Amino acid sequence: MEPSSGLKPKCSEFTLAAVSELSSSPVSSSSTPVVARFCADRGVVELRFCQDSNFIDGFDFNLGTSKLFKLGPVQSLCISESSDSNKEKSYSRGVTIQFRNEEESRDFHSAFEQWQSVDITQGTNLPNGTISDVRSKFDNKIEPSSAKMYFHYYGQLLHQQNMLQDYVRTGTYYAAVIENRVDFTGRVVVDVGAGSGILSLFAAQAGAKHVYAVEASEMAEYAGKLIAGNPTLGQRITVIKGKVEEVELPEKADILISEPMGTLLVNERMLESYIIARDRFLVPNGKMFPSVGRIHMAPFSDEYLFVEIANKALFWQQQNYYGVDLTPLYGSAFQGYFSQPVVDAFDPRLLVSPPMSHVIDFNEVKEEDLYEIDIPLKFIASVGTRVHGLACWFDVLFNGSSVQRWLTTAPGAPTTHWYQIRCVLSQPIYVMAGQEITGRLHMIAHNAQSYTIYLTLSAKMWGPGAEQGGILQTSSCKLDLKEPYYRMSQPQPYTMAQEQQPHQLLQVQDIPIHTEDLEEPELLQQPLENSGAQLQ
Ligand code: SAH
Repeated sequence: MEPSSGLKPKCSEFTLAAVSELSSSPVSSSSTPVVARFCADRGVVELRFCQDSNFIDGFDFNLGTSKLFKLGPVQSLCISESSDSNKEKSYSRGVTIQFRNEEESRDFHSAFEQWQSVDITQGTNLPNGTISDVRSKFDNKIEPSSAKMYFHYYGQLLHQQNMLQDYVRTGTYYAAVIENRVDFTGRVVVDVGAGSGILSLFAAQAGAKHVYAVEASEMAEYAGKLIAGNPTLGQRITVIKGKVEEVELPEKADILISEPMGTLLVNERMLESYIIARDRFLVPNGKMFPSVGRIHMAPFSDEYLFVEIANKALFWQQQNYYGVDLTPLYGSAFQGYFSQPVVDAFDPRLLVSPPMSHVIDFNEVKEEDLYEIDIPLKFIASVGTRVHGLACWFDVLFNGSSVQRWLTTAPGAPTTHWYQIRCVLSQPIYVMAGQEITGRLHMIAHNAQSYTIYLTLSAKMWGPGAEQGGILQTSSCKLDLKEPYYRMSQPQPYTMAQEQQPHQLLQVQDIPIHTEDLEEPELLQQPLENSGAQLQ
C-alpha cells in the first residue's frame, strides 16, 4: 500500500560519515558514502542504510518499533525490537550512526521524528468493510504480543459476561440510551469495540436507523450470533470484525457509543481507539456516548493496607531458607510490591481530603494527548494522620439531549467491576488537619496497552525548621498500571479497622464532592453507613 501522497515525499536521504552494527567495525564512507534513507514502503515506514546504491543487509529499521538516541553531538544510536510476532522472544538490534557534522545530526533526528509520525493509513482508498493491510495507528504503538493477549481475553464469553453482569455499568448504559431515544432515533450509530454487541442492541432498541458494531476480537462472531437471534433489532445492525483503526465503514455516524474505560479510566489504552473512531467515523458535531471522563484523586490513610503490602516482602528477610540467605532480594521484593496499584473497593472515610478531578473531554481531546497525562496535585488535609498514598477513581458522562447521566466508580457508590485504584507509597507522609498536600501524578503510556505511573506527594513538616518556612517531606513511587494487585479476595475489615484506628478519619458527611468543572447531579450519593458491606 502506498503512503499518503501529499503528506510527505516518498523517501528522504541523509549522507553519513559512517554506520556500524553495535558490535562490529564501521561501514565507513571513505570510498563511497553511506546513505540513510527513510521510506514508506509496503505499508511500513522504514529507515535503511545503503552504500553503492545497495542496501546494507540487516540494517533496516521499522520506525514503528525503533528508537533513536543521541550518544554525542555527531553520534547517535538507533535500536529496534524484532517485529516478528511469531517469535516468543523479541531481540533488540542496534546501529551506531556517525554524522559528518552537528547540523546534519540535528536534521536527521527531526526527520526521524517526522517519519515516525507519518500515518500511512491516511489517504489510502479502501473499499467499504475491508481492512487495510498497512500498519495502522494501533499496530504502530502496541506491542503485538500485548494485543494478541488482549483480544484473546475479550474473545471469550466469560469475560464479556463479567462486564454484562456488572449491573451498575450495563444498567447505566441502558438507561442513558433508552432515556435519550431522541439522540438515537433514525440515526447512524457506530459501536466502538462492540464485544457481545449489547450496546448495539440497546441503540437499535432506542430506534437507531443503522448500527455498525465494530469488534476486533473473535467475540465479533458471537456478537453476530446474538444479533441474528434478535432479528427485529438485528436487521438494523451490521457486525464488522476488525480494529476501529483499520476498518472502513460505508457511511459516517451521527453518534458513537462505546465502553472504552479501563481501571483508572485510561488503562488498556482503548480511549485512544475511541478518539481515533471519532476522527474517522463521526460527523462534525456528532454525539459521543460517553462524552466526558474524569479521573478523581484524593490522598488516603490506610494503615492496614500499608502493613499488608510491606509484610508481603518479609518472606525475603529469611536468612536460612533451606540453607540460603534470601535477604539480598528483600529490597527488590519490597519495591516490587509497592509498584503494584491496589484494586479494591474501599470505604470513603479513608480519604484524607476532598478529591480533585482531571477532566478529559472526549469530543475535544487529541489521541496524542493521552500518551502522557500529567496532573499537578493540591489538597488540604481534613484530619491529622499518616498519608499512605493516592486513591483514584473515575466517572463518565452521557450527555443526552433529554437526560444527563453519570456512570461513577466512586468509593461509597455501588461497586462496579472497576472498583477503585490506590497507589501506595512505601514511605508514608505525616499531615496535620488543614495542612496542604501537594504533588504530581504523571502517567506515561507504554506499548503494552497500559501506563507507567509516577506519583509524588509532599507536605511541609511542622517540626524543627517550621519557623523558617518548613522542610518538605516528599515521597515518590513508580507503578505499572498493567500489574495491579487485585485485593478483593482478601478479607476486607475496613469497618472494623476504622473503629480500631486511634484517630478519626474523614466522616462521610465531611466529604464535599466538588462539582466545579461540570454539572454532576449523580456523582456520589451519600455513602451508606456500612459501605464496607458492599465489599466482596
Ligand atoms: N461494548 C461491549 C464490550 C466492551 S469491552 C460492552 O459494553 O459490553 C471493550 C471491547 O472493545 C472488547 O470486546 C475489545 O475486544 C474491543 N476493542 C478494544 N479495542 C478495540 C479496537 N481498537 N478495535 C475494535 N475493537 C476493540
